Amino acid sequence: MDKNLKKANFMKLANTAAALKNNGFDTEVFEDAAKAGKAVLKLIGKRRSIGMGGSITAETLGLSAALKKAGNEIITHAPGMNGSERIKIWLKAQAAEFYIASPQAITVRGDLLFIDGNGNRAAAVIYGPRKVIVLAGVNKIVRDMDEGLWRIRNVAAIANNIRLKKNNPCVKAGKCENCASPERICNVVSILLKKPRLTDYKVILVNEELGY
Ligand code: SF4
Repeated sequence: MDKNLKKANFMKLANTAAALKNNGFDTEVFEDAAKAGKAVLKLIGKRRSIGMGGSITAETLGLSAALKKAGNEIITHAPGMNGSERIKIWLKAQAAEFYIASPQAITVRGDLLFIDGNGNRAAAVIYGPRKVIVLAGVNKIVRDMDEGLWRIRNVAAIANNIRLKKNNPCVKAGKCENCASPERICNVVSILLKKPRLTDYKVILVNEELGY
């Protein structure tokens, strides 16, 4: 990336971090994904239980494999699981010590937005695991709530629909059609305005484009 843009992006992340801290979310900015990944491993340590939803950002950081290697238990659904198997896993993830997730948007005022099809991740980031680690690349930062609500469907959801090979209208239209498809993946939005009292958060902002 152009070094001037990188510097501008770093300042944007630093300003967003200040806003998130003001909202009660412990936040740190990292120059790259490798440093961010190391920080997550250090934070979690060994022999912990960790719930995870599908996160391209966590995948890019290689977190699942590295955490397992350190003796941690990763609780997440796998392709091919049926509905009742998924629900069982999601309830277990809800009771894990840690939860790792990536929001689809963060406003520069320090609001965190998560969109979900089933609600398991949207629920776990607000209630359940006592420690939530939130990972986000600079591409997730938006100006305000309106842009955030637009982004989570018109950028993040479309890319996820393509990734998951869903036959939803946005895949062809290139914009959200607010569908009523049975395969719709945009059913629940969690918005964190301030830190929920009994949960600890670590927001890790990375000066790279990560995930959707
Ligand atoms: S068209 Fe449906 S699945 Fe696609 S982004 Fe809009 S609500 Fe989500």
